[in-house]
Amino acid sequence: MKATPEDQNLLIELQLIDSQVTQVKTKLAGLPELEQIAAIHARLENTAVELNVVETELADVAIDLRRSELDVEQVDDRIQKDEKRLSSGLTTPKELEQLQHEVVTLTKRKAELEDGELEILIKHDGIKGRVDELLNDQIGLKQLELELNVRLENARAEIDKTLAELAQARAALAPKIDPALVELYNKIRLSAHGVGAALLVGNKCDGCHLAINATEIDRIKGLVPDEVIRCEECRRILVRI
Ligand SMILES: [Zn+2]
Repeated sequence: MKATPEDQNLLIELQLIDSQVTQVKTKLAGLPELEQIAAIHARLENTAVELNVVETELADVAIDLRRSELDVEQVDDRIQKDEKRLSSGLTTPKELEQLQHEVVTLTKRKAELEDGELEILIKHDGIKGRVDELLNDQIGLKQLELELNVRLENARAEIDKTLAELAQARAALAPKIDPALVELYNKIRLSAHGVGAALLVGNKCDGCHLAINATEIDRIKGLVPDEVIRCEECRRILVRI
């Protein structure tokens, strides 16, 4: 294939634009915010799972606590009733003795129930503390997610702007080059990591960075400038400086 040295140089310019597009797209896919947001999502999910468990636990303990409070109230009611009866002065000596004995037993029972209630209350407060902690974590994580999303959108907008500029530059440049050369270049790019044309720097291909053997270099030197040459190693279009 033949193409003017001007066209071949323009092709290198086109390659520079296309390489920049590749770089910018790689940057877009690897924005650190994407990974950070994914990590936040994972943490939010874990928090939600734990919160669900702990809230269920809290609801159960709240029922235990209420039941325990009712038990204490019930015993307390009976003590008060007995004491009222005792202070009425209307009891027989036998009933008096029975009532006094019952009050002692009930007071002891009340103290035990109150100990149990306190234990449940401590447990309840501990779980409630964990629920509050998780709710706080959730608020903090959602705030962080919001901030990261803003940063991600800004970074994306910046990249989109650069891509639009590069697309514009490419659209202006490509029609200036021989279509057959551009077609060959595009075809090579598909199987050469996006690099279809490279400069011949000294005896090295700037595409694959391999040295070209002396015989081939001699052959290239003998070719007219219009001759389109290809790297023997990577098959990319080689443009002589
Ligand atoms: Zn090469």
